[in-house]
Amino acid sequence: MAVRPASADYGIWFKRTDVLIGDAMIPARWDVVEQTALCTRIVNEAGVSVSTIEHLMAALAGCGIHNALIEIDAPEVPILDGSAAEFVQAFLKAGIVSQAMPVWAVEVLKPVSVQRGEAIAELHPAAEMRIDFHIDFVDEAIGQQTKELNLANGSFVRELCDSRTFCRQADVDAMRANGLALGGSPEENAVVFDGANVKAAGGLRHADEPVRHKMLDAMGDLYLAGAPMLAHYRGHRAGHSLTNALLRELFSDPSNWRLVQCTPQQAARLPGAGVHIGEFPAVA
Ligand SMILES: [Zn+2]
Repeated sequence: MAVRPASADYGIWFKRTDVLIGDAMIPARWDVVEQTALCTRIVNEAGVSVSTIEHLMAALAGCGIHNALIEIDAPEVPILDGSAAEFVQAFLKAGIVSQAMPVWAVEVLKPVSVQRGEAIAELHPAAEMRIDFHIDFVDEAIGQQTKELNLANGSFVRELCDSRTFCRQADVDAMRANGLALGGSPEENAVVFDGANVKAAGGLRHADEPVRHKMLDAMGDLYLAGAPMLAHYRGHRAGHSLTNALLRELFSDPSNWRLVQCTPQQAARLPGAGVHIGEFPAVA
């Protein structure tokens, strides 16, 4: 996979380099998301798809990269260590330049919410992006975790980007029984929780790594709005599919939102504005 620079107002597009050129382009947009439980997959009209885009999308959003072409020769983005850390590190090392065009953002004008069982996802009007998240698991090593974060001033890079995907041992066992997850041990690219036990390469990176990862996922899934958002997202046991349903709800009514050209003050408070390599957490 290669992430390439793109001109101002290009947006984020994926290009599958292993298919016919006329079928290769897939926009990173909420309306081409195919419903999946475990990851976010986008698919174009030719049926060509890319899966597991959420951590890469979070890294792009969190670094304030609004225009990029992602070339990939396979149907799935590399999972790496299960976080967005390597993507962020690569972007910050390569360098990010501002382009000579104002930045557009999606401003949420009215509260919007979706609910499935006990899971709730909401968007509220806000002057800048905030994410609040709450999770509640039976495994004692996860339990209940809550975190609230304002995404201005590079906080995605400092606080969220290195938090890894997690799963439960019971889910790993079920997948194995169904012949899935055959490549290597799950601990290489996820934190595995089993009751009070944690299996993670190098141990947990944060005591509340699971809720931070859920916020990272939300960041990536929300970036499929097609632009950074001026909004306050609240997730309660939410996941990829619910956050996508939330975007569909938002965009179903034109009075819920508007596209605004950011003032320099607003642009300076967008996620990723002014981030630099010195903010990158010391991860393995
Ligand atoms: Zn994830």
